[in-house]
Amino acid sequence: MAVFKPENVEDFYEIGEVLGSGHFGQVRQVRDRASGSLWAGKFLKIRKNAYSRLGLDRSSVEQEVEILQTVQHASIVTLRDVFESRAEVVLILELVSGGELFDFIAEKENLLESEAIEFMKQILEGLKFMHSKNVAHFDLKPENIMLSDKVLPHPKIKLIDFGLAHLFLPGEEYRSTSGTPQYIAPEVINNEPLSTAADMWSIGVITYILLSGLSPFQGDTDEETLKNIIAMNYQFDAQHFSMTTSMAKDFIQKLLLKNHDERMTAEECLLHPWIKPITRKQMANMNRSSINMKNFKKFNARRKWKMSYNMVWMCNRLGHLKILCKGSTDPDPLERQCESDVEDTDSKPASLLRRRLSSSS
Ligand code: ATP
Repeated sequence: MAVFKPENVEDFYEIGEVLGSGHFGQVRQVRDRASGSLWAGKFLKIRKNAYSRLGLDRSSVEQEVEILQTVQHASIVTLRDVFESRAEVVLILELVSGGELFDFIAEKENLLESEAIEFMKQILEGLKFMHSKNVAHFDLKPENIMLSDKVLPHPKIKLIDFGLAHLFLPGEEYRSTSGTPQYIAPEVINNEPLSTAADMWSIGVITYILLSGLSPFQGDTDEETLKNIIAMNYQFDAQHFSMTTSMAKDFIQKLLLKNHDERMTAEECLLHPWIKPITRKQMANMNRSSINMKNFKKFNARRKWKMSYNMVWMCNRLGHLKILCKGSTDPDPLERQCESDVEDTDSKPASLLRRRLSSSS
């Protein structure tokens, strides 16, 4: 178990610019005061008391920390240190400075399938390792697939955000309905026992989007998206997949299977001929086929727009609630009211709110 240091994080790290925000706090660049090295500080708000509905339980943070310590791999963000104060826990993480993989790709003119495969391989290597340690991520989506440094000739993948991840104990039955609608597996929606196979479904969705710029189950609302997933309502639209190899479609089909036992594992994916071509002809095909860049750029622009929209909506909502709270002579009950207000404003499945800020559906 990691030591949660009681010292003030600012005695050791100088706090810098905001790198990103999540549902429970911000991620900021931090500088080690002793060595000058740069890191990312993930500031997580902790629930004040049993009545408070804002912030995380300390036990969830302990779980995130334990998992990060378990999954030390080149394709997974590393945890360096943990600090704790009364109201928050700060995770000092490896600084992942290359941005999101999807943003990196969207800046390109063209991307061959063979180049996309190089990224998929790294993601799968990270997952293979994670799953071998009985850890499932349960929130794989473009926002959580980053690059260590995009100026390198071959940028390296870093998987981030283990906030929903779970470490399975032998024989344990685990259920959770948390996640991001576009990427969650049918068994998550149905509240069935979960396994690492749920991550493989998300890999199927991410690969589908990467190649076509379309999201396979996307509806006009989250509810519609969830219904499409349950109904397995997806197809390879001829127009959008005209440049895609049949191997790539086969790869996706073997992941988007309702029965999670039939889905390829990360290990099996790494041996699939799309990832590891057997013949010269297969290899040549991957070098001739490109991803649907026009659609991909559109998908990514819409995704980014929705992320900023969600962020502004949340900030406005919090600002409004703060004003309400200030008028009170007895801050505690009102503060509680504010907290529950924030979390009760949507009628979506409650657990999906857990990830609302980063949801791009
Ligand atoms: P969410 O509510 O979206 O699940 P979260 O509170 O669990 O978020 P993260 O997803 O881990 O937080 O981080 C939020 C954002 O901060 C990320 O989308 C990313 O942009 C940025 N970020 C996280 N970790 C790092 C890192 N190690 N280096 C650089 N940026 C990071």
